[in-house]
Amino acid sequence: MKAVCWFGKGDVRVENVPEPKIINPHDAIIKVSLTAICGSDLHLYDGYMPTMEKGDILGHEFMGEIVEVGREVRNLKKGDRVVVPFPISCGRCYFCQKDMWSLCDNTNPNAWMAEGMYGFAGAAIFGYSHLLGGYAGGQAEYVRVPFADVGHVKIPADLPDEKVLFLSDILPTGYQAAEYCGIQPGDIVAVWGCGPVGQFAIKSAYLLGAEHVIAIDRIPERLRLAETFGGAETLNYEENEDVVEELKQRTGGRGPDACIDAVGLEAHGTGLGIIYDKVKQTLRLETDRPYALRQAIQACCKGGTVSIPGVYAQFADKFPIGSAFAKGLTFKMGQTHVHKYMRPLLERIQKGEIDPSAIISHRIRLDDAPIAYRKFREKEDCHIKIVLKP
Ligand SMILES: [Zn+2]
Ligand SMILES: [Zn+2]
Repeated sequence: MKAVCWFGKGDVRVENVPEPKIINPHDAIIKVSLTAICGSDLHLYDGYMPTMEKGDILGHEFMGEIVEVGREVRNLKKGDRVVVPFPISCGRCYFCQKDMWSLCDNTNPNAWMAEGMYGFAGAAIFGYSHLLGGYAGGQAEYVRVPFADVGHVKIPADLPDEKVLFLSDILPTGYQAAEYCGIQPGDIVAVWGCGPVGQFAIKSAYLLGAEHVIAIDRIPERLRLAETFGGAETLNYEENEDVVEELKQRTGGRGPDACIDAVGLEAHGTGLGIIYDKVKQTLRLETDRPYALRQAIQACCKGGTVSIPGVYAQFADKFPIGSAFAKGLTFKMGQTHVHKYMRPLLERIQKGEIDPSAIISHRIRLDDAPIAYRKFREKEDCHIKIVLKP
């Protein structure tokens, strides 16, 4: 079968690889009908995620039709149409039982690697390094889904793939980020980064009762989408370099009640701060560029919340812990507990409260993935969200 494989920094190829097989009774094999490239795949593409190996199959956002199930899988059958969450979770451990699915204790066979880095290991993730389990991803014609009886949502026949695919990651991720803000009536929320997760965070903040959302980016078509899809007011940081001051001005001097960093470790920016980060990251003196996060902390209202759906890998420099302390901020972050949100969000899609397909900018064949990765990375011709059809 064909699959999108990682071969090194800036090098992904479509290769012919063996088809996956059932190896555990709880597995299922899915024929992928639609998959997507995630912003976080660019961290792999750019070589920021350790423990990738040549030939690893990428992709953690996918859906399709069940073609085979293991003998213990009782709630799925051949022909079912499902979306699969990006974290692989057992459903039985302490963390899964507490609805903290992305912190599952049982699914990462390489837990020792993550423990060495982070102290403890979270759930494995499809197609996202050996540190996070070494499972083959879904940018392929077929994929093996471990714990398939736990990790899926069945899709009614009347809903097209494009409307539901993003239940796998970015819609729940944006939603969880907004939910973490503990939004109260009248709240103003600021969102850094108008990529797909940022777009869904904006939309979700309104669904959860925010009075007003301010979206920050530099790419005109992303800012435009934040206005038209999300209904946000926008702030282009290349036109308004002092983002913190500008946000103060726009919020009656108080700052946003909640700030969402939907950017993560490869932030862009203006001025000396970002040059500092780029130099230190290049020299491997810090792994992450927390430029957007610093702004979010500085801008946030006293007593407010900083919510971080953007991915961070390990060490960030000049983290303004003093500002966070002085203002009594709350931090919420982490990989998304996708399983918890899939069904409620599917209902919102069915009710027409949100149409996730509105953010798709490019529909391409799996064969064209290498070009798509490059263009997505360079933010060429309005690449916001790319879906791939195997
Ligand atoms: Zn993703
Ligand atoms: Zn578990």
